[in-house]
Amino acid sequence: MEKQSAINNLLRKHELRKTPARTEILDLYMDTPHAMSHGDIERQLEEMDRVTIYRTLSTFEEKGIIHRAYDGGEAVKYALCHNECSTHHHHDDHLHFSCNKCGNTYCLEGYPVPNVQPPEGYTIDEMYLFAKGICKSCKVR
Ligand SMILES: [Zn+2]
Ligand SMILES: [Zn+2]
Ligand SMILES: [Zn+2]
Repeated sequence: MEKQSAINNLLRKHELRKTPARTEILDLYMDTPHAMSHGDIERQLEEMDRVTIYRTLSTFEEKGIIHRAYDGGEAVKYALCHNECSTHHHHDDHLHFSCNKCGNTYCLEGYPVPNVQPPEGYTIDEMYLFAKGICKSCKVR
């Protein structure tokens, strides 16, 4: 019940109408501690068609609900935003960690990516930085 109201609040805050697809995908994200790709969601929500998932993810990204968690893999993974992100304004400048064992990608909140100053004459448009290793839950096993 509490999760349902969190989902409603999130949609309202980002001025999105409540639809079954949006609710279901957010529900899944709230239950998952790591980032998920389109394919991951498709496997979990078998009833949902691909196009709906694509559309929902791009709306969420645009509205500041999820962000790309780059991990060097081919599939783009998305994670829930925990900061005050809004439409076209993301503030998820933390490191992403990809586990070599389980393959999951986690947000390392509180571990900011360093701000690199390029040499004179160079402009950085995009920069990808991520960590690979063994995650907390794989380590204990
Ligand atoms: Zn964000
Ligand atoms: Zn792991
Ligand atoms: Zn993240």
